[in-house]
Amino acid sequence: MRPKFGLLVVGSFLAWPPPAAAMSPDVYERRLLRESLPEVSRESPFDWNYHNQRRHELLEAGDTRAAMAHCDAIFAHSTMDPYILDTLSGWEKEPARALRELRRYALTDLPFLRAAVLLRQAELLRRMGTERAAEERYAAVLDAADADPRLEPYEALAWAAVGDPAREPDRTLWLLKTKGVLGSSDVRRNRRAARETLTRLSLEEARAFMDAVRAQKLVRPLVNALLALSQSARNAHALTDEWVRVLEGGRADFLVEVLTYVEYASTGVGTVYFPGRDTVDIYDYDAAVGAVVHESCHGFMDEHGLEGNAVGLNEGFCIALPKYIESGQGDIAEAVFGTVLFYRDVGLRGYPTQVAIGDANTLDAKGQAVARFLMRHDPSGIDWFDARGVRCLYDRVWSKLDRDVEWNAWLSSVDQATAASRVAGCF
Ligand SMILES: [Zn+2]
Repeated sequence: MRPKFGLLVVGSFLAWPPPAAAMSPDVYERRLLRESLPEVSRESPFDWNYHNQRRHELLEAGDTRAAMAHCDAIFAHSTMDPYILDTLSGWEKEPARALRELRRYALTDLPFLRAAVLLRQAELLRRMGTERAAEERYAAVLDAADADPRLEPYEALAWAAVGDPAREPDRTLWLLKTKGVLGSSDVRRNRRAARETLTRLSLEEARAFMDAVRAQKLVRPLVNALLALSQSARNAHALTDEWVRVLEGGRADFLVEVLTYVEYASTGVGTVYFPGRDTVDIYDYDAAVGAVVHESCHGFMDEHGLEGNAVGLNEGFCIALPKYIESGQGDIAEAVFGTVLFYRDVGLRGYPTQVAIGDANTLDAKGQAVARFLMRHDPSGIDWFDARGVRCLYDRVWSKLDRDVEWNAWLSSVDQATAASRVAGCF
């Protein structure tokens, strides 16, 4: 099977030059939001009266925003503080009227205040018999708690209110169902609703999620709900079938998030991933179905911070991944160094002859976890996070090879270089 994948190096590559942005806007915003939250000090004793007094004074002075920050501080220490919730409800006892009072606080970016208000709204909605609307509030709290571990007490309350572990053991699947993702044909909406939830799953959580999806025979409905096809996507049925096959197989469950942000087109340029447009462009999904995982993998690496100009590692990881899915192992070295040498020795019209290997350390935590996962199934055994060691191997061993030879000759020089790499003294 090696020649088949070797050809991918020639036929499929990153569009050049890709944008330098290593971090996607939503990850960046989440980080900003997290950093701007007030730090809760465990050392100083919490003074409920002080915060409540300031809340009152600031409201009197007309500074609602500052007053709400004190509510947030109170909710951080006093989960679902009943007095504050009563004041926010305008002391209304009747559910519909209390709900109306609370509505104005549900959109706040103050995390504890928002969680407390959402939970109280959910309780009121349940009392009014509108279960679906209540579940949406609980889901919003669970979602927020995934991004902010300090919300754990609120998460526990939400989970206790809705959870029926026997009925739905996987929270992520429950969240997607609650958001209506699996029952809707509105792909754009589904992708927005699922994107953050799926992207922030760890590898283990993605596995658990997909196990639940597989157990309930929901793989194809999930793919159909999220897969975004342009009008031009040629033979899209083959693309859908390939995604179903990969996700049924269970070897690359972390890849499921790609469905929420990569789009698929066929403009006829070949088999390419365009980072700036988050688009996989394959001329015909039936004819080139073997490139689907490879190009989608570029989308994953782009999302998780592998710099666009890290051409060697991008190809290395993304050539190794489909090989791993098929056979249980994928050689990263042949793909990384072979790619760099291909540009140097064979060349692609309109592309530079010198391309960078790149540095795996630019990946975010999930990207690094995937890289380490692939490294565990990489027969070359190279530590791709040791950029100096990798550079040394290239200089001492791989740069001496000629890539402009026929495929079998290349493979035998790969075998020699792999053996020489082990004794090159670079690590
Ligand atoms: Zn590629």
